[in-house]
Amino acid sequence: MQVIDKSATFAETLVAERMKGRTVGLVPTMGALHGGHRSLIERAAAECDVVAVTVFVNPLQFDDAADLESYPKTFEADALVASTAGAAVMFVPGVSEMYRQYPLPPASSVRVRGISEILEGAFRPGHFDGVATVVTKLFNLAGPCAAYFGEKDFQQLAVVRQLVEDLSMQVRIVACPTARESDGLAMSSRNGRLSVSQRKAAPVLRAALSVAANLVAAGERSPEAVRNAMAQVVSGEPMVVLDYAEVVDPVTLETPAVLRGEVRLLIAGTFGDVRLIDNDGAYVGRLSRPSDKPPEA
Ligand code: AMP
Repeated sequence: MQVIDKSATFAETLVAERMKGRTVGLVPTMGALHGGHRSLIERAAAECDVVAVTVFVNPLQFDDAADLESYPKTFEADALVASTAGAAVMFVPGVSEMYRQYPLPPASSVRVRGISEILEGAFRPGHFDGVATVVTKLFNLAGPCAAYFGEKDFQQLAVVRQLVEDLSMQVRIVACPTARESDGLAMSSRNGRLSVSQRKAAPVLRAALSVAANLVAAGERSPEAVRNAMAQVVSGEPMVVLDYAEVVDPVTLETPAVLRGEVRLLIAGTFGDVRLIDNDGAYVGRLSRPSDKPPEA
């Protein structure tokens, strides 16, 4: 695996690969790679000729300096995960390679209006502007490719899809399912910061989603009833403060007045100073998703 820290070299390397007729898969990350990242890299490796993993802890998307400071940096282990999962290139730029004037912000930035301002955007002002800006830079450097993102960060996925469509980027977005620990907790770089008792309590988010998904599958059409069901599960766990529990349209992320068809359940909670998010899909009145194969007659 080739490790690259210069933007120009990264761009040239992928241009050269495409010239040879190879397809490029891009997996943007902030490092501290775990099983969730691994699943994205493996999927990209199965579908593309050359996989490039980027590792960059993007300061623009942190609204909290302490959170940025404490973000884990594990380069050696990341290189091992990326290479064994099938990456041929790992791009690890320093902060001044990405933002020449850092700590001053770049003069140009990207904002995806509307969808960036609700839910996570309301709790973390400016977060998705930082995400949209760095993703734009990475896509510009990588050139035409398929880019792999996790459903774990469902709103981020929606923001990136909107960005690619609005700005006509030559990137195909591939959504990958959430990788989980054996007790249902979504894998996250932040899980390592939980205390033993917080870690034990953390699967409550997933439990709340499951209760809500069953309710929706059973035909519940009231968003309030679904929200309340999630809040009730979470209220049974004193280690967590619920930030939000919502049921939304999977594309606009807005809550419809009456639930119908496919919906997305989104939840966020804070354990001490560690904020975790999770989500799941559900289909009103049906146990399976519309994309699932219908049962044989
Ligand atoms: P991050 O390093 O947290 O910025 O995440 C990089 C990419 O990995 C994003 O597309 C995330 O959605 C994805 N990702 C993070 N955790 C998981 C997970 N548990 N399952 C699947 N994808 C994930």
